[in-house]
Amino acid sequence: MRLVYTAKHPTEAHLIRGMLKAEGIRAEVKGDQLYGAFGELPVLPTVWILDDMLAAQAERVVIDFLHGTAARKYGHERWTCANCGETLEGQFTECWKCGAARD
Ligand SMILES: [Zn+2]
Repeated sequence: MRLVYTAKHPTEAHLIRGMLKAEGIRAEVKGDQLYGAFGELPVLPTVWILDDMLAAQAERVVIDFLHGTAARKYGHERWTCANCGETLEGQFTECWKCGAARD
């Protein structure tokens, strides 16, 4: 596994993961469960790719994200999770909070 991005918050980390997934790159978010936990030291969520060989490709996705181009490429209408009410970015096919699939 290889670290490709340290996000400012869980939503951003999952956004990156979704973009990587859209490019066929399997990725995982770590540390998102610890974010904001009361009494915990702040732990920033990180995005890891499972296949080190795709690091260069993943890096481009992250750079695109930072430049805002990926957001335009994958950004669709936001939707609201029917299960927990979380507002999600358009590229998510499932709720990052509760795991419910998009309608
Ligand atoms: Zn949900």
